Amino acid sequence: MTNNHLTDETLQAFLLKESQDDAVAAHLSACAECREKLENYQRLVAGMQKMAPESFAFDVTTVVMDKVVRYERQKKRMQELVFWGLLSILIIVIIAFSIPFLSQIRAVFTAIPVFTMLLIIGTGLVVLLFLIVDLNTQYKRKAEKIFQNKLQPIR
Ligand SMILES: [Zn+2]
Repeated sequence: MTNNHLTDETLQAFLLKESQDDAVAAHLSACAECREKLENYQRLVAGMQKMAPESFAFDVTTVVMDKVVRYERQKKRMQELVFWGLLSILIIVIIAFSIPFLSQIRAVFTAIPVFTMLLIIGTGLVVLLFLIVDLNTQYKRKAEKIFQNKLQPIR
């Protein structure tokens, strides 16, 4: 029996419970050499099972989270671009519509004192600035809320 040892394939199949051969079990109980081989395989498989899930889960989580974060950042940048694009178009349209009345507007400003004119322009600019800042902060708050809701299910 000792010169007819079990092959590596037979030992692996027995270990992974692919085969439940009585002859293999009988040989293992009689032969210390094959038993040692089987124990070595057992240790190897146990080590692999211990290591594989941990490294796999870690890598997948990192990769997925990295991709999600990059995607959200790209989306945010795109939405910001759209927001500023629309705002510029709006300003251009307003300017374009006010061009035919430019002479009338100038007539109004030349008719009034310089100090009053500066006051009017200054007030207009401040109001415009506040509107833009308010619009921007509101937009950012909304965008943050949307992104938070979207990111929540991913754990
Ligand atoms: Zn043997």
